[in-house]
Amino acid sequence: MGENCIFCKIISNEIPSQKIFEDGNTFAFLDINPASKGHVLVIPKKHYETLVDVPEEELKQLIVSVKKIAQAILKATKASGFNVLQNNGKVAGQLVNHIHFHVIPRFENDSIKFSLRANQVETNELEKIAELIKKEL
Ligand code: AMP
Ligand code: ZN
Repeated sequence: MGENCIFCKIISNEIPSQKIFEDGNTFAFLDINPASKGHVLVIPKKHYETLVDVPEEELKQLIVSVKKIAQAILKATKASGFNVLQNNGKVAGQLVNHIHFHVIPRFENDSIKFSLRANQVETNELEKIAELIKKEL
């Protein structure tokens, strides 16, 4: 259990939540401040901080749960699509340091915007960063 972790407390029922799903190592519940109706958070029961901290087997099970829950959300809300959002680190907007996948149902004209700036860069800049990343794999 992560020290003072709000999501660990939700799993252990110390803090109430609208539970959607639970199995051996996944827990899913409604986001308390939903971006849209049916916004769910899917988390591992064990406390890991970010995506890279989760062991592969647990991560596989977690993403399968995300799929299963997304399908249920689509049916239940009649959404036209959904976003899966997963922030790692404060700088990336992670407020709760227990890894979580947001599943956010999307509706026509829901006015939600994830805006990324489309920067123009030289091809050699792309090549350089591609090489640096590939070297680490
Ligand atoms: P993030 O910015 O990716 O760390 O997202 C954290 C999310 O957790 C936010 O969307 C919050 O609304 C949500 N959240 C925080 N506290 C609770 C809580 N007690 N129950 C449900 N959702 C929560
Ligand atoms: Zn935790």
